[in-house]
Amino acid sequence: MRDSVLLEAPAKVNLYLEVGAKRRDGYHAVRTVMQAVELCDLVGVELAGRGGVIALEVEGEAPRGEDNLCHRAAAAFLEATGLRRSVRIRLVKRIPVAAGLGGGSSDAAAVLRGLNFLAGEVLGSRELLELAASLGMDVPFFLVGGTAMGEGRGERVSPLAQAPPLPLVLANPGTPLSTAEVYRRYDAAGGGEPPRGGAEAMGEALRAGDARRVASLLFNSLQPAACSLVPAVGALLEHALWAGARGALVSGSGPTVFALVSDQGEAEELEKEMGRHAPLVVRTSFRSAGVGLA
Ligand code: ATP
Repeated sequence: MRDSVLLEAPAKVNLYLEVGAKRRDGYHAVRTVMQAVELCDLVGVELAGRGGVIALEVEGEAPRGEDNLCHRAAAAFLEATGLRRSVRIRLVKRIPVAAGLGGGSSDAAAVLRGLNFLAGEVLGSRELLELAASLGMDVPFFLVGGTAMGEGRGERVSPLAQAPPLPLVLANPGTPLSTAEVYRRYDAAGGGEPPRGGAEAMGEALRAGDARRVASLLFNSLQPAACSLVPAVGALLEHALWAGARGALVSGSGPTVFALVSDQGEAEELEKEMGRHAPLVVRTSFRSAGVGLA
């Protein structure tokens, strides 16, 4: 049996994010269409000797030690399965942190998938999804990927028909933005009125591979809050549209903006243009799967 595995942990964008009423537990209900993209972290997972010790090595920008979601995912997996092995994790971080791209959640999903593989699939997919949701609301999506609808707090994930590999450009203003802070601003100031049936329409447009319609249906209730907390976000949206993007939106709670373009040539041009306004710009495309073997 193998004792180590290397996984790709992709970033995601929210093509549609509708925030609903505040629930009794204080969290908002959401309806969101999530799409994995080809920008990935790399996660190496190894089952070492006995002892239950978790060692994490990080290359790039991400918390070291027990606060890292990779560490928490490994601890949760050992506890849930009773496996008494030590775990070594090597994380190569490429996805910007606290950017609305779900990088930490994807890393956690990769650790769960990797450990379950190495341990001989001890957990069924339902148990794995429950464990994932206990770590964070975006984690289950990355086990399901590449295109899916998220409901509840985002953790109830159902796969949607796979979208074509549409090109897009990500632009990050370089200011981390905490999700909690964005929701506080949303509660105080509100967001735009969601289009009726918007999530379903987006799912249909993706299934049909209708890139123009996907662009016309982009929506995020949290966008006004993200723009008011980081004004550079609104400026990036305007630059992207002015430079000819089909559509542009804040991903998740921001501050990353993504812009949909027609082809790789346009993506290259937009990447150059956005590079004049944002410190971090990445050209990528929709990915057909969530976390997976590298
Ligand atoms: P969220 O909506 O959960 O804030 P996000 O996509 O905006 O997600 P992440 O990159 O997942 O942002 O980071 C969220 C927080 O998680 C950061 O404050 C970061 O310190 C912490 N974190 C823990 N582990 C990781 C990891 N492996 N990669 C990135 N961030 C991590």
